[in-house]
Amino acid sequence: SKTKVLVVGGGYGGATAAKYVRLLSDYQIDVVLVEPQSAFVSCPISNLVLGGSKTIADITVPYDNLRKRHGVTVVRDSVARVDPAKKVAVLASGATIGYDKLVLSPGIDLMFDSIEGLQEAHDAGRILQAWKAGPETVALRKQLEAMPDGGVYALTVPEAPYRCPPGPYERVCQVAAYFKAAKPRSKVLLLDANPDVTSKGPLFKKVWAEQYKGIIEYRPQHKAVAVDHKTNTVKFEVGDDVKADVLNVLPTMRAGRIAVDTGLANANGRWCHVNFLNFESTAAKDIHVLGDSIQLAPGMPKSGHMANSHAKVAAAAIVAELNGWEINPAPMVNNTCYSFVDDKKVIHVASVHEYVAAEKTFKTVAGSGGVSPGPTELEGIYAWNWAQNIWSDALG
Ligand code: FAD
Repeated sequence: SKTKVLVVGGGYGGATAAKYVRLLSDYQIDVVLVEPQSAFVSCPISNLVLGGSKTIADITVPYDNLRKRHGVTVVRDSVARVDPAKKVAVLASGATIGYDKLVLSPGIDLMFDSIEGLQEAHDAGRILQAWKAGPETVALRKQLEAMPDGGVYALTVPEAPYRCPPGPYERVCQVAAYFKAAKPRSKVLLLDANPDVTSKGPLFKKVWAEQYKGIIEYRPQHKAVAVDHKTNTVKFEVGDDVKADVLNVLPTMRAGRIAVDTGLANANGRWCHVNFLNFESTAAKDIHVLGDSIQLAPGMPKSGHMANSHAKVAAAAIVAELNGWEINPAPMVNNTCYSFVDDKKVIHVASVHEYVAAEKTFKTVAGSGGVSPGPTELEGIYAWNWAQNIWSDALG
């Protein structure tokens, strides 16, 4: 028999979609979730593991509630291929699962080929990314711990769009906070392919100039093109080579590989266009794509908060379609991204996005959202509560 809804990826988008299809259908629609990891590990807050104030255990949530409380069948495997014509997914183990509706939320694919030598450096465990939270986050923290005082950590940022616009800028704050406390002669170099800080720019720059004066140096317009892990060097399209003790090199990103391989990356071959009323791919019927993999409307970031919102819009539309209900969706979603500038103080950016039927896209609601006046400990409390709330919404 056919699975009604098959969800690929148990991250921010997929876990939320699996739970909400069950909830909104009064537990009448069968949901299977395929995810290779044994538990959910959150990218939000993972920079604090690098800073040393949180552990991987603090950001890990089991899939038990999806299974036991919500009756989602969680399969620990990965989807190797999808046949959109036959409506069948083939798993890495060789098993096949048919579906009425497929939901893909596979996150991002790191394009190692965009930087010469990076694949080899990565495979050798020498130059890490840690842009998917888990063992690599721990390995990068170990590299920072092993670095002598007076050493240099360098982070390269790819051209936008990439997963989590403020993520790299939060990361350098976390590493600098650790250095300031534990190895004060060390330096942080931030090498950005973009012309300027792409999120919360004035706020981050103030923190770097004041709290991390003499520690963080920002260099815009530095697009990494090659690395050599034997000399720990990174080369740029324009600008001098940089040698660092710990190199953290982020390549260009695109939609999760399964979305690309299924032929859904119809925006520059990198991201997936969707119909924003139900998040159905514009390239394949009955395949819905969520989260970082999609080509977002202007002003919408690739964030966990967004992926969670996409999932709820998609789940409502899918349940309505499978039940033959007429609905007239007018989705309104919001986003908040908190960034920890040290172990306690936080800044945020927020926005509200409304579906505009005449233009078939989301538009940022005028006057909505904004940014913090400056870092505070109160926002630090909000940020940690945001994380716990969204984990409980997606997985609880
Ligand atoms: P993910 O959450 O990555 O989920 C994808 C899942 O799909 C993974 O579990 C993966 O194992 C699985 N998968 C992939 N391919 C397959 C396959 N073929 N078969 C089965 N499963 C598969 N966002 C915020 O909102 N707030 C923040 O503060 C924030 N901080 C961040 C900090 C960092 C350092 C980083 C890297 C990201 C941060 N983000 C933040 C962004 C956020 O993590 C992503 O936007 C979010 O995870 C996107 O959700 P997703 O469902 O698209 O992908």
